[in-house]
Amino acid sequence: MAVDLKRVAAVHEKIGGRAAMMVDANQQWDRPSAMRFGRLMEPYHLTWIEEPLDAYDVEGHAALAAQLDTPIATGEMLASVLEHIALIQNNSVDFIQPDAPRVGGITQFLKICALAEAKKLQLAPHFAMEIHLHLAAAYELEPWVEHFDWLDPLFNERLEIRNGRMIVPQRPGLGITLSEQAAHWTRGTAEFGKRP
Ligand SMILES: [Mg+2]
Repeated sequence: MAVDLKRVAAVHEKIGGRAAMMVDANQQWDRPSAMRFGRLMEPYHLTWIEEPLDAYDVEGHAALAAQLDTPIATGEMLASVLEHIALIQNNSVDFIQPDAPRVGGITQFLKICALAEAKKLQLAPHFAMEIHLHLAAAYELEPWVEHFDWLDPLFNERLEIRNGRMIVPQRPGLGITLSEQAAHWTRGTAEFGKRP
């Protein structure tokens, strides 16, 4: 923890409030550690603390959200609307981080957004920016979208980023088409109608 604190302080000094800063614990803390770390983080005015606790610790996140000024973010590991409802109803988060592919697609994601909007939660979807850019753009409050280039080989198009903002493409649908490489992987790995 001491090492992590030094790192946060060093980055904070370097960027000096000129950029938003978050920390992500990837579910590695227990409740007392998360609370202690959260208190020590308060002077840095982080945009959020991500996944401070086990993804399913609804009560633990609620205690952090209630007692810390720094916003709490989690939800990326949850795999259903019901699991997100537990976070939302128990005031466990300030930023909800649903993952459309993981919760069952766009329709399920939008159900979570409707509930989150009712609680005035902030939205910061997890991964898969190619889908989430569109869904986040439809959210009531200005959202965050994670930037990952990991899926770039799948698509022909690239998302445009200007001054730290992702631009919603004007192309039809999600604005992406499968690359030759991705089509090849699909053809190369899927086998249909093969008898045992
Ligand atoms: Mg994360």
